[in-house]
Amino acid sequence: NGTSGETEQFRFFCLGGGNEVGRSCHIIQFKGKTVMLDAGVHPGYSGLSSLPFYDEFDLSTVDILLISHFHLDHAASLPFVMQHTNFKGRVFMTHPTKAIYRWLLNDFVRVTMIGDDSSGTVNSGTLYTDDDLAASFDKIETIDYHSTVEIDGIRFTAYHAGHVLGAAMFFIEIGGIKVLFTGDYSREEDRHLNIAEVPLTRPDILITESTFGTATHENRIEKETKFTNLIHSTLLRGGRCLLPVFALGRAQELLLILDEYWKNNEDLEDINIYYASSLARKCMAVYQTYINMMNESIRKKFRDSNSNPFQFKYIKSIRNLDKFDDLNPCIVLAAPGMLQNGVSRELLERWAPDERNAVILTGYSIEGTMAKQLLMEPAQIPSFNNPDIMIPRRAGITEISFAAHVDYEQNSKFIELVNPKSIILVHGESNPMGRLKSALLSKYQKLKNTENEVKVYNPRNCDDLKLSFKGIKIAK
Ligand SMILES: [Zn+2]
Repeated sequence: NGTSGETEQFRFFCLGGGNEVGRSCHIIQFKGKTVMLDAGVHPGYSGLSSLPFYDEFDLSTVDILLISHFHLDHAASLPFVMQHTNFKGRVFMTHPTKAIYRWLLNDFVRVTMIGDDSSGTVNSGTLYTDDDLAASFDKIETIDYHSTVEIDGIRFTAYHAGHVLGAAMFFIEIGGIKVLFTGDYSREEDRHLNIAEVPLTRPDILITESTFGTATHENRIEKETKFTNLIHSTLLRGGRCLLPVFALGRAQELLLILDEYWKNNEDLEDINIYYASSLARKCMAVYQTYINMMNESIRKKFRDSNSNPFQFKYIKSIRNLDKFDDLNPCIVLAAPGMLQNGVSRELLERWAPDERNAVILTGYSIEGTMAKQLLMEPAQIPSFNNPDIMIPRRAGITEISFAAHVDYEQNSKFIELVNPKSIILVHGESNPMGRLKSALLSKYQKLKNTENEVKVYNPRNCDDLKLSFKGIKIAK
């Protein structure tokens, strides 16, 4: 018969990323099956306080853990979950995500250990070691885009999400209920990524990001022009440009833009573009390997020129600042993207006092980080090594977002195409998330109290959200 007349409860439990951006981790449960979505850290905190609220849930009950992409706020607490909790489920991610995960978290371990030494706080900055990371790596399973895995009554499929190389949306079926989890996603054509796809099947529940709330992005061409003009004019007046970036992901898109711009502007030929990252070489190899998972435009370039678009002509990779001669105007792309510590913070402190210089923030700046603080254009900033010393800030601060998250128009269009019955908002600060909820509710106002009513939820961390489903058909 396949139909149950009884009401079944679907449970959504947010361990992180509820009314905040950071430490994404969500639990979905139906008919005794449990799936965990993402396992990130919060970049605004350190040590144990950067973790999702793992103590609030019995992780030994999780059957499957799906990681949407390699960003720290979605993947960096995975080694902790796998090696230091009672979690015993299976973990899945796409091939490029796994390839990058290894090097990225290796670097994360190194950076948090350095933070540990200098701060000397009780709350250790180190959540796990390289050995934990290596042990977790061997147990992670991979999934191809558009392929479906079925394990013990849980079925899931990976779709392109845009955003960064390897990012996936997961379409999950548990006991007849269909759920789409977007992770972080984008719908705007860029130079190398496939945009997020709309699955063919309609989900009952959509769990979507709400980073930009109801905001509207500038159009791509205007944004790029503003970006290259600002860089050009800064360099011509003898200034330096600092682009704080996450070590890889969106940085590769900026490198493609800059390399192309330098090719078209001869007067810039003698000005250096540096990509300062200890991961640069290893990770560029990953980008060169996975061209077949990128969009048609970059694959065409690859075929036509017979050379790799990620072998840049005008960009010099440097591991750190040891051999960096800071004598002339230049551009440096350096991690971390939110200037919490490391190379980008060191250059910020060095260049902030000179008004000719420019800091361009191209990513999303999370609450509690130096990048977020800079957006307020403070007259001075604290030195990282000695917070009692204040450094004057005269360099220009400009935000031009290449963060590759949907804006309101793109998010609401995507939701329309996906056509879910219920929407659960995650990954957004309270205010933008609340505004997005209101906008969606008024968009679907006409359907209220009909059988097609669209429900919208914005749960906080550790809120228990239960949705009732009647007479779900179970495919046998
Ligand atoms: Zn992300």
